[in-house]
Amino acid sequence: MATAHASITNWAGNITFAPSHLHRPESVDELRRIVAHSPKIRALGTGHSFSRVADTAHDLVQLDRLPRRVVIDHDASTVTVTGGMRYADLIYLLHQERLALANLASLPHISIAGACSTGTHGSGDTQRCLAASVAGLEVVGPEGDLVELSRDVDGDEFAGSVVALGALGIISKVTLDVQPAYPMAQRVHALVPLDEVASSLDEVFGAAYSVSLFTDWRATGDVWLKRRLDQPETAWDGGRRAGVPMHPVPGMPVELSTDQLDVAGPWHERLPHFRPELTPGAGEELQSEFYLPRAAAPAAFAAIREIADLVAPVIHIAEVRTVRGDDLWLSPAYHRDTVTFHFTWVDDLDVVGPVLAEVEKRLRPLGARPHWGKLTAAGPAEIVAGYERAADFAELMRKRDPEGKFRNAFVDGLFGSL
Ligand SMILES: Cc1cc2nc3c(=O)[nH]c(=O)nc-3n(C[C@H](O)[C@H](O)[C@H](O)COP(=O)(O)OP(=O)(O)OC[C@H]3O[C@@H](n4cnc5c(N)ncnc54)[C@H](O)[C@@H]3O)c2cc1C
Repeated sequence: MATAHASITNWAGNITFAPSHLHRPESVDELRRIVAHSPKIRALGTGHSFSRVADTAHDLVQLDRLPRRVVIDHDASTVTVTGGMRYADLIYLLHQERLALANLASLPHISIAGACSTGTHGSGDTQRCLAASVAGLEVVGPEGDLVELSRDVDGDEFAGSVVALGALGIISKVTLDVQPAYPMAQRVHALVPLDEVASSLDEVFGAAYSVSLFTDWRATGDVWLKRRLDQPETAWDGGRRAGVPMHPVPGMPVELSTDQLDVAGPWHERLPHFRPELTPGAGEELQSEFYLPRAAAPAAFAAIREIADLVAPVIHIAEVRTVRGDDLWLSPAYHRDTVTFHFTWVDDLDVVGPVLAEVEKRLRPLGARPHWGKLTAAGPAEIVAGYERAADFAELMRKRDPEGKFRNAFVDGLFGSL
């Protein structure tokens, strides 16, 4: 089904999409026909990106009306799902089968294909970005052809195809690694002095399976520990254990947050910060995030603390997380263990812009790679300079999509001249 001249916005409302047509196919065959007949087309997931990564003036396709298929392969420990499916829809089905994913982002309401396409991550020293759990893809190519790609068979080309910003075709199926379900418990260590965090970064971020530091960068932070109950506890016990549930952003409704206070529960009700069963409304916020080499964490920490008085007034909150390195060409954690510095800004680009530029001035020399789906002041040339496989990706785009059917201005700006 196509709607002419549709006008829709992303989750944050900072981007209005004005495609020539919005398509919502009800079968993969219909999707293939739409792609074959389109001069230029992009996929839109759940629209949670803040950047123009999904934007197009031509055809836009959403896969939310494709029949929802979930096929579990117990022998291979994988699940194969329809491209447009959200993590929030999958996690309950997996849990019923006593299966789990290794990791989730802060909210599970994002589409699996869209999140993997941008290198979206959760947190954990041992945990890679969500795309690193992709074992296979089915992609609709420019002629409406179906391309099957598998981690085991397609090696390096597969590594170039998972975090691909929508530029290699429309992902109609994703196969993800699964593992036996595991129990977790979450607690918050409140008001941890930032001096203490800075002097014991490895202890703090190694204190649980998944760790997040929330701070306004002034003096203290709240450390959220998400423990797997089938793994030993560590010794770190800084700050004060919170006695009441918290929201990552002070003053926001705690009912939206997943259970804390060390109450045991299933993996999918502890790993995300926000409850899967509640749909958060569109936020009055903007976001930026930078992936830095883990070894640069102390320098980056100090660099942001120096401008805390500039940053604090224009953020709702900031978050620091860790991500294990991977081999996906466009993953911002490519070939390096990573620490991420995230900023949830107030919804006013005029006041945020200069502060964002100042943050990036400090983080870029330390090797910062901006999140593909969030706001950055860096130009395309600066961004791709951080990716050693950028030219290989440009070559892969030309091979798989010679006419550039799946490219948009965002992708052309980055890779068009390589
Ligand atoms: C409240 C909030 C919390 C967030 N938390 C986190 C977090 O914890 N960690 C983190 O790393 N990021 C986080 N993000 C960012 C978010 O995860 C990414 O922007 C992610 O890409 C959003 O997924 P989406 O389905 O909305 O993708 P979209 O924004 O719709 O699209 C992103 C890209 O994927 C492509 N795409 C989508 N579907 C397909 C498909 N079927 N085939 C091919 N390409 C496709 C699009 O063309 C586009 O290039 C958050 C964002 C918000 C708003």
